[in-house]
Amino acid sequence: MRVALELSGVSKVYPPPTAVTALADIDLVVAAGETVAITGASGAGKSTLLGILGTLERPTSGSVRIAGADTSAMSDRELSGVRATSLGFVFQQFFLLDHLSVRDNVATGLVYRGAPARVRRERATEALHQVGLTGRIGHRAGQLSGGERQRVAIARAIVGRPAVVLADEPTGNLDSATGAEITALLAGLADDHTTVVLITHNVDVAAAMARQVHLRDGRIVADSAPRVGA
Ligand code: ADP
Repeated sequence: MRVALELSGVSKVYPPPTAVTALADIDLVVAAGETVAITGASGAGKSTLLGILGTLERPTSGSVRIAGADTSAMSDRELSGVRATSLGFVFQQFFLLDHLSVRDNVATGLVYRGAPARVRRERATEALHQVGLTGRIGHRAGQLSGGERQRVAIARAIVGRPAVVLADEPTGNLDSATGAEITALLAGLADDHTTVVLITHNVDVAAAMARQVHLRDGRIVADSAPRVGA
């Protein structure tokens, strides 16, 4: 089994005055190609966990390996490199640049990879094909429907061929039919190379992932496919 993500003994305590323990002693191993839903009530620690998996936050203690690299001792600059080469992000709010074309929005996902503009455009076209938006390449992002906008955001997340796609409530702003399409698209991204981890409150979205990890008070209280010690 190739490991995409591995958290060992990860805790996150926010500094005083709150001193909230957002995550407590998390062990989590995710194999390459898995699709994982992180569920739990508000305040359970889902966003903190996703932030740590995405190297946007550092754990207070414990270790985080991403695509084989131990991030514990990395500088901020090295962590940016991990984000640029190994991770793709999808958010509830899409975060597109409305005045730019669909293709340019996707090409921005490669800006930190140092690829020349021509390569960025080619890759963007391929990624848009993968998400079913070939017919929208030249449109401005602001002209698209919500579901199309999320497809653009997914194309932007995968254009750098990341090992792991992290999605934070990706269907939260969509009607249920469109949300189901986006969920299927995300689940379908997983292959030997690509792993998908998402946060959701929606039971149908969670059920569409192969594995469900449930958090309560910063701890994993249920995991449909635990791989601790794998
Ligand atoms: P969820 O995403 O499941 O709603 P979070 O990870 O956002 O949970 O939050 C987990 C706990 O950590 C909550 O008690 C929350 O109030 C706290 N928390 C989150 N972010 C911060 C922060 N920046 N500073 C202090 N406490 C925080």
